[in-house]
Amino acid sequence: MLPDRVVGALATAPRPVCAYVYDTGVARGRAAAVREVLPEGAALLYAVKANGAPAVVAALAGVADGLEVASGGELELAVRAGAGRTAFSGPAKTDAELAAAIEAGATVNVESVLELRRLAALASAGKGGRDGKAGRVRVALRVNRAGAALPGSHQMTGVPTPFGLDESALDEAVALVRGQPLLHLAGFHLHAVSNNLDAAAHAAFVAGAVDWSLRAATRYGLPTPEVNVGGGFGIDHAGAGRFDLAALRGALPTAAPLVFELGRYLAAPAGWYAAEVLDLKRNHGRWFAVLRGGTHHFRLPAAWGYSHPFTVLPTPGWPYGFARPEVRDVEVDAVGELCTPRDVLTRGQRVDRLRVGDVLVFGNAGGYGWDISHHDFLRHPYPEMIVI
Ligand SMILES: *Cc1c(COP(=O)(O)O)cnc(C)c1O
Repeated sequence: MLPDRVVGALATAPRPVCAYVYDTGVARGRAAAVREVLPEGAALLYAVKANGAPAVVAALAGVADGLEVASGGELELAVRAGAGRTAFSGPAKTDAELAAAIEAGATVNVESVLELRRLAALASAGKGGRDGKAGRVRVALRVNRAGAALPGSHQMTGVPTPFGLDESALDEAVALVRGQPLLHLAGFHLHAVSNNLDAAAHAAFVAGAVDWSLRAATRYGLPTPEVNVGGGFGIDHAGAGRFDLAALRGALPTAAPLVFELGRYLAAPAGWYAAEVLDLKRNHGRWFAVLRGGTHHFRLPAAWGYSHPFTVLPTPGWPYGFARPEVRDVEVDAVGELCTPRDVLTRGQRVDRLRVGDVLVFGNAGGYGWDISHHDFLRHPYPEMIVI
């Protein structure tokens, strides 16, 4: 089940094993597969926050049309990776970040009327963009539409959130952009959800987003807008469900240029988190596999409250003169090295055989894994970062 190249990479890791393995070829393959089902002219961006490891960002910058960033730090990564185009989102952009976005020629996904005013002020203060469109800053208005809910774990639209403009603020925002000679209204940004596993529902959401955008453009007398539908293609981290990419082929609208900003779908399957079993113990009737690692490296299962499945990588060698502890055919909880009962990656997964010194490998860990984790809690050493 584990790819040989991942097993090979882990064989080189120092003991006790604690490592992330990123396979940039997998990330590139995911981007190619997505591209194949998108309509002509659609742009595919990689959302850097899923995994900002420079090798992953560089690999995806090379095959996608560009990168989506949500902070000044990510913007710097994107510039360094030579992104073809950059979109900058996030509800809390500082003036310094906006100025850097202008410098970089990024499209700014504007999240509020105030942000728009600040962007215009910075542009007129001489931070002029250099995107070729007469030096104007490309703006996409991020809108939290009414009634655009999608299935998925992180709703961001159709419900109250800090993201985007309320539809009632759109008149003011459009008038503002149009009154600014240094801003160019490229279109709308309608990112709605993360981790949606229903591809048909996603296609319907994209169609709804395009309809909405074209109606808005007509109302305001704008040319055909670019419609950024954000990210949200899902990964079933806990089980065997999958987002059926093929269901998108021919099902996406072509009446406006689309922009996709995918994070999880491209990055998650390109990463594995591996942690060696340091102890096996039975406590109040449950077996615990205590790992050199835990939720400070891979927080997703704790953050979302699910059990992340693992594969046992049997590891030879036992340096002590006493018997190597092992269990057979039992359910174990995979827990980390932190002094908190919440440091749990998996509950109750059955193992045929597990020994101290074996390595548990958690797949689909390349997106929102290391990047969302609280690395310094308890000051354990960081995992090895192995790029293959
Ligand atoms: C996080 C984010 C994405 C990527 O979302 P995924 O669910 O990882 O695909 C895209 N666009 C914006 C604005 C985001 O905040």
